[in-house]
Amino acid sequence: MAMCDQCGNFDAEHTDGEPSIMALPDYQPDLYYYWHGDLEEEYTMPNDYQCLCEICFDINNSEGKIKWKNGKNPFKCASINSVH
Ligand SMILES: [Zn+2]
Repeated sequence: MAMCDQCGNFDAEHTDGEPSIMALPDYQPDLYYYWHGDLEEEYTMPNDYQCLCEICFDINNSEGKIKWKNGKNPFKCASINSVH
């Protein structure tokens, strides 16, 4: 399951296929969810977040709150959508 620690968006794995849960506005299966420890832990999330949807990740990243190993920020020069 994936659920954003900042805004509460979640993906299909979080619903257990339950229609009433999948009807909630926070059900956002098309978003990419970033996990703490992904990308060989090349980044550190703020506020001890374990999971962020791509929207919140992008906001935090643009605000400089995502700490990149070696200062390497793969999104600095490219749209986040091009990563998929
Ligand atoms: Zn979010």
